[in-house]
Amino acid sequence: AYHDNLTGLANRTRMEEDVQKAILQAEAEGHKVAVGLIDLDHFFNINEILGHKMGDRVLALFAEKLRAIPELQKGLYRWGGDQFVFLVDRVTDVEQIRGLATMLMELIRLPMEIEGEKVHVTCSAGIAVYPEDGSNLDEIVGQADRALNYAKKQGRFNYKFAADLPKKAFYQHQLSIRNHLVEAIERRLIEPYFQPIVEASTHRIIGMEALARWPETNGLGKVGPDSFIPLAESMGLISDLGRTVLEKSLAYHALLKKQGHDLELSVNISRRQLFSSDLPRVLSTMVADAGLNPWDVILEITESIAMLEVENATARLLELHQSGFRLAIDDFGTGYSTLAQLHEMPVDEIKIDRAFVQRINTGEGYRILQAITGMASALGLTMVAEGVEDETSLGKLEDLGVHSIQGFYFSPPVDAGQFTRLLAQGPSSK
Ligand code: C2E
Ligand code: CA
Ligand code: CA
Repeated sequence: AYHDNLTGLANRTRMEEDVQKAILQAEAEGHKVAVGLIDLDHFFNINEILGHKMGDRVLALFAEKLRAIPELQKGLYRWGGDQFVFLVDRVTDVEQIRGLATMLMELIRLPMEIEGEKVHVTCSAGIAVYPEDGSNLDEIVGQADRALNYAKKQGRFNYKFAADLPKKAFYQHQLSIRNHLVEAIERRLIEPYFQPIVEASTHRIIGMEALARWPETNGLGKVGPDSFIPLAESMGLISDLGRTVLEKSLAYHALLKKQGHDLELSVNISRRQLFSSDLPRVLSTMVADAGLNPWDVILEITESIAMLEVENATARLLELHQSGFRLAIDDFGTGYSTLAQLHEMPVDEIKIDRAFVQRINTGEGYRILQAITGMASALGLTMVAEGVEDETSLGKLEDLGVHSIQGFYFSPPVDAGQFTRLLAQGPSSK
């Protein structure tokens, strides 16, 4: 009842008992207890794409790696799934635990050998300490879990302590950003930047993605879309923001068209926009007002939004598609779509997430991309690779049948003026 067969580690029941005992003992003897939650990064993809057998091998090897760390030998548990727990009792100095966590990350970054292949698997960890972060099992584990989520939000493959969780200063800054953001959206200060989308075979610019930027006009420092987009969304302002970005982008697109450039314009549609009932009508009007056609525009919906509420989303996507818009699944590979689901959606294009593109030079990463591109071409979807930063990746993607490329290799997102200059340069010599 205390044992996990796959990894040979103790299980969660055992962990809970041990943590409770360690806390009681620490209370009596006046020292600390550290509890760390470890979660494999993107394990779902390993399982789905390389198969469950491979997934099990990875978990077992991962457990073996953890067991090789002397300090962890007695306090290691499998929580379940791809989550593990470590327990260190009789801690006198929390710095010891930081050292341990750093070592863990170093060890994990070394590839595993599976059937002669090197497989890179990383993990994230959240750590809480008794008595600072809580007084009992539930509180400590809860805080470790919050720290783990924070580590993942900060980009994965790192660890955070519960003590690192953002506190008051952070909230004050956030509050000030919120107030400024309301104003910036009302005054339509948000500007689209444009990133070229380049045809893989000719290196010609065939499209552009509009990406929102908040010009630095406020003493708050640079606030990027990864912060202000979710914020606008949570404040109910994303539709206004989206409308400004879209209007400005359509106007620019129309201008380019007059100059003889017939590009595709890709815009990001947030969850709230997608599910607002007047989106098809609003979009159609805006496009017509700009003198453009709906098929000039590709609407990007992230995979997680499309797949979390498949039925609702499919109905909305159908409506948009019938209005003439083209549809792309953004951040493809990070969500949980299955081939069957994708097949039922009126999707024209997938944008392969940067995380995959950037692992193309590992054997495992390449195989994942082979699986993705194989599936997409079987479904007749246009494939766009995001986050292409070098020539080697570009070549490999072209070989895999990817149609277009977006990434710093050609250009980062730039303002309209610079974009026009890029167009004037003609096909990139790169
Ligand atoms: P996204 O839609 O996945 O956009 C691609 C992101 O990848 C952009 O980040 C772009 O600058 C970045 N990128 C492009 N090429 C490379 C590369 O070679 N290497 C690396 N490391 N990064 C690259 P950005 O502009 O910071 O936007 C972040 C996210 O914010 C977007 O991700 C999108 O989800 C959201 N967003 C931006 N503008 C809008 C908008 O107008 N409306 C909505 N709803 N979301 C937006
Ligand atoms: Ca996008
Ligand atoms: Ca994307």
